[in-house]
Amino acid sequence: MLILGLIGYPIGHSVSPAMHNAAMEHLGVEGIYLALEVRPQSLRDAVFGAKALGFKGLNVTIPFKEEVAKFFRLDGLASKIKAVNTLDLERMLGYNTDAIGFIKALEEKINPSDKVVLVVGAGGVGKAIAYALLEKGSKVIISNRTMTKGIQLAEKLSKYGDCHFHPYEKIGELEGELDIIVNATPLGMEGFERKIPVPEELLHDVLVFDTVYNPPETPLIRKAKEGGCKVVNGLDMLVYQGAESLRIWIGREPPIDVMREAARKALGL
Ligand code: NAP
Repeated sequence: MLILGLIGYPIGHSVSPAMHNAAMEHLGVEGIYLALEVRPQSLRDAVFGAKALGFKGLNVTIPFKEEVAKFFRLDGLASKIKAVNTLDLERMLGYNTDAIGFIKALEEKINPSDKVVLVVGAGGVGKAIAYALLEKGSKVIISNRTMTKGIQLAEKLSKYGDCHFHPYEKIGELEGELDIIVNATPLGMEGFERKIPVPEELLHDVLVFDTVYNPPETPLIRKAKEGGCKVVNGLDMLVYQGAESLRIWIGREPPIDVMREAARKALGL
């Protein structure tokens, strides 16, 4: 019996169990994927407890992607950015599949090469996205509520390409300079503040990618549509990162369409 799960706090918004359970059923794999809410002070106990209980793997979501990286050997990309969203508990290895999930979803809409991209958020997902964009030749501007964290990330990533920090309070100054805006914060997500993470005046002539997928239409996506922008929500990114996690755990081709359909159904779409 393959036991998988997702750890995060809070976790109620997640459609990952629906997506992975449908995939395993489709592939004839006897297994279960559980959503496990873990309080931040219990992260270490939860991870090693899951290993002791026979879990093969875990996905990791907000706010643990960086903290959990300290307990594991890290695969190539995860070791570069020190952010992990997939754990193989048998081999004690941490991976990052957010980057590939994001890029696959983005490239279905736009070629990011040479585009100027604002990434709002310097947490686990912001890091993965900024790195993935730099690898694709984008010019990346990082902004983050906590300035020191954003500056540190931009400095660290500048060895991979054109990357700098812009203060969160002054994002409005970037009007007219951007091709793509990415929300890598939980703003707009079910259970979090329903605010938009950038000033409204930026929401024209850009592609807006909100990594939040629940609700499917966040306040940011709504405002961006009103401003005539192309928009992408986080659903396809979720499906693609989940598919790559499943590939790591079971070594088989993931059924993308089955996973997308199950995620959409769980969201009531
Ligand atoms: P994280 O590591 O906890 O980082 C959260 C980031 O959001 C930090 O940069 C934080 O800024 C910022 N933030 C939090 N609350 C804020 C607020 N009220 N105002 C402004 N900034 C705020 O979380 P994460 O793992 O990167 O996840 C971030 C979001 O990405 C999640 O909420 C989720 O919706 C989305 N996500 C989507 C997918 C997908 O597949 N679609 C996958 C993973 C995550 P500070 O540094 O100042 O705290």
